[in-house]
Amino acid sequence: MATGTITIDLDALAANWQALDRISSAATETGAVVKADGYGLGSARVARALARAGARSFFVAVAEEGAAVRQALGRGPAIYVLGGHMAGDTEMIGDLDLIPLLNSIDQLTRHFEALPGHSFGIQLDTGMNRLGLEPGEWAAVAELALPQGPKLLMSHLASADEPDSPQNADQLAAFHHMTDGIGVPRSLSATGGILLGPAYHFDLTRPGIGLYGGLPFAGATGVVTLSLPVIQTRLVAPGEKVGYNATWQADTETLIATVAAGYADGLFRTLSNNATFYAEGTPCPLVGRVSMDLITVDIGGLNHIPSSLDLICAEQGVDDLARAAGTIGYEVLTSLGARYLRQSIGGAPA
Ligand SMILES: *Cc1c(COP(=O)(O)O)cnc(C)c1O
Repeated sequence: MATGTITIDLDALAANWQALDRISSAATETGAVVKADGYGLGSARVARALARAGARSFFVAVAEEGAAVRQALGRGPAIYVLGGHMAGDTEMIGDLDLIPLLNSIDQLTRHFEALPGHSFGIQLDTGMNRLGLEPGEWAAVAELALPQGPKLLMSHLASADEPDSPQNADQLAAFHHMTDGIGVPRSLSATGGILLGPAYHFDLTRPGIGLYGGLPFAGATGVVTLSLPVIQTRLVAPGEKVGYNATWQADTETLIATVAAGYADGLFRTLSNNATFYAEGTPCPLVGRVSMDLITVDIGGLNHIPSSLDLICAEQGVDDLARAAGTIGYEVLTSLGARYLRQSIGGAPA
């Protein structure tokens, strides 16, 4: 088989959920964000493992993702849709008991007309200016919306991964101003907000990246290993060049391994001449350009020819690779392509 393998450690995933759960008090419920196919790892697999760990509230971006998670989890767990109730979603939301987080007056109207009496939450904008009712809109419609019994009032922090940003306290104050005294459960924090402290926890938290081993949860356990098979090796002589546009040249005789993955698999072209693979802990530099389906690696430092090389592993986490690529761990994970074999280890039997 000539595709790479992503190995997902379900025990590490569960341990990360439990670690984030322990940061907030027992009065705060810890949810789980499984949007974008569980941050690229397979939403059915991760949702089931997180449910076994104790999660009872799940968040997805769009109703279609909610349908997949409902199928994996069955009836029972709450599934919130961050994108709210869009035209065309009504049947899915109704039949599969999804909870849309309504973000505009249009959506409130659509939901109350199409599915009267069906669960919903309300998304408030506290300064990110991305999704949610503005303070003025909320003031205008709260009197109409609250008697319909929202399950949750939520907002989202724009700078929670920068603990010193004054925007955090500003958004916290705005959220209090918009929700104090209402008596509906509240949610403000994703992974970064959980780490800002108890003032940010409210009734329900929404961690995503921290569950999957990414920053800003520095205490996370790695969940993902990415291993790419070696499909050919060759010895190149001093002066020979490797890869598209000959961007790397050997200055001594070098053993080159070609592995089966490339930018079509989410291994960004910015990693060209700028990343390190590992063979059982020994670093091997990526040389030349990342191609669509292939990458070349200098394995001269090894005393054997490995059957595969690791790009995400104990020595190099998702965020280390992201730094080399000039991006964030979120983008590395959610870019991992469809060609990889995804397999899981650990996890109590279902
Ligand atoms: C993606 C998202 C989350 C999860 O964020 P992480 O930083 O991955 O923990 C939570 N809430 C909302 C509204 C989101 O869009």
